[in-house]
Amino acid sequence: MKRAVCPGSFDPVTNGHLDIISRAARLYDELYVAVLVNQSKAGLFTPDERIEMLREVTAEYPNVRVDTFRGLLVDYCRAHQIGVVVKGLRAVSDFDYELQMAQMNYGLAGIETLFMPTNPLYSFLSSSLVKDVARWGGDVSDHVPKTVGRRLAERLPPRGGDSAPWRPEGE
Ligand code: ADP
Repeated sequence: MKRAVCPGSFDPVTNGHLDIISRAARLYDELYVAVLVNQSKAGLFTPDERIEMLREVTAEYPNVRVDTFRGLLVDYCRAHQIGVVVKGLRAVSDFDYELQMAQMNYGLAGIETLFMPTNPLYSFLSSSLVKDVARWGGDVSDHVPKTVGRRLAERLPPRGGDSAPWRPEGE
């Protein structure tokens, strides 16, 4: 059985993550989506909430399993007989760090990394940007699944920036 993992914080899952997950699910018999639990860094959503959202939005992919991991990703891979890590690449700025991690993971445990170029629709999208926009009442409905949009609105009641929409001078 060919298994791969998409690791990340998923705080919360965006359409960019979902694009990579759905494409990777077509390539492997089983795809794990593993939420990194980082005790020293509290997110907006708890790991359980992130998992719940991920389960909802990946329910249509029968070979996707959502789970958590802490510590080294390679240890998680070994424990679950996973040979491949799938990473989405948004831009060259992602590449430097991802290359180092991929080489380290290969050196540590022979785990391969597959880089998947993002759909250009999502190349600017990150969970942190989505949270920033939602925090100020911006519309993120094109960037996250509906259920995530609802939870963001509940968790981050808009602070209300300037209420009048910006208009170019002269209008
Ligand atoms: P972020 O908080 O930056 O959104 P995560 O740690 O949750 O990142 O991301 C997990 C994985 O998903 C990483 O491999 C990252 O490159 C990938 N990813 C994140 N956003 C996108 C996107 N918009 N398009 C493609 N891949 C993405």
